[in-house]
Amino acid sequence: MSPAPSAKIRIGPAGLHYFNRSSGLNVLFDEVDFPKISWHAAPRQISIALTNACDLRCSYCYAPKNHAILDSRRVCAWLSEFDEHGALGIGFGGGEPTLHPRFAELCEFAAQRTTLAVTFTTHGHHLSPKLLSRIEGRVNFIRLSMDGIGSTYERLRGRSFRDFTTKVREASSVAPIGLNFVVNADTLEDLDSAIDFAQAEGVREFLLLTEQRTDRRSGIAAEELQLLQNWVRNYRGKMPLAVSARDADRFVTCDPCNADSELRAYAHINAVGQLQRSSFEKSGVQILESGVMVALRTLQESQPCNTI
Ligand code: SF4
Repeated sequence: MSPAPSAKIRIGPAGLHYFNRSSGLNVLFDEVDFPKISWHAAPRQISIALTNACDLRCSYCYAPKNHAILDSRRVCAWLSEFDEHGALGIGFGGGEPTLHPRFAELCEFAAQRTTLAVTFTTHGHHLSPKLLSRIEGRVNFIRLSMDGIGSTYERLRGRSFRDFTTKVREASSVAPIGLNFVVNADTLEDLDSAIDFAQAEGVREFLLLTEQRTDRRSGIAAEELQLLQNWVRNYRGKMPLAVSARDADRFVTCDPCNADSELRAYAHINAVGQLQRSSFEKSGVQILESGVMVALRTLQESQPCNTI
């Protein structure tokens, strides 16, 4: 089966958004006003936690620890609905998404049966040559989690940094890659060398994630946050930096689509099939047989829940 088209148009309060998932080109025609009735209803980007399972034990992990895994047929139905209603991209996560038994099939479905850009976030250690050959041409971007470098990485993640480096190189041979970097007291000092590593490995984007508060940990301390903000302010490197929506008001950021905000911009589905405003929320709206767009309307009418 030949892949679905690469280019897509989304209409919303920000204007007309042209997106090409193959090249990553985004063009926003923001001087054009469209009536509300013509706006696409789906969030621009959705993340889906395919499973809560993960074989690493990072102490700052905020992923839920209850056993949960999504049925792949339900995920495919949601992807089709989101695609039809104007979403531009889907990001598979977890837990560790490559531990989902149908992970490769889900990437293939999204690439060939929808016009969604496909990304996923992984610790990288299950990116075998066999899996990479199955997803080649079916994912548009791979995000690898690298909290600290060298011995810091090994202490925090309990895996060999040399093995991780091999996975970074192998992943970059099948799709553009980004690095996700949790910033806390353990990793802050590694930032400059992590950027050098990213530059040397051809990484396209470096995502800074401040450590979030969990039931067991208090999250990034005020002092470290201040140091990080200073580091960002003084950063002059060529590697593009990004922050999550949750951290956006802590840094100077540029978001041309900011009129397309909140649930118009982003939603998350957790591994028990609840639609949420973000992966940090404790609960959400259960997606029923009536479909994910019905759940979205229910969520839009509800108040934000407590976050972790
Ligand atoms: S690799 Fe990710 S999901 Fe797994 S324990 Fe670490 S932070 Fe959590």
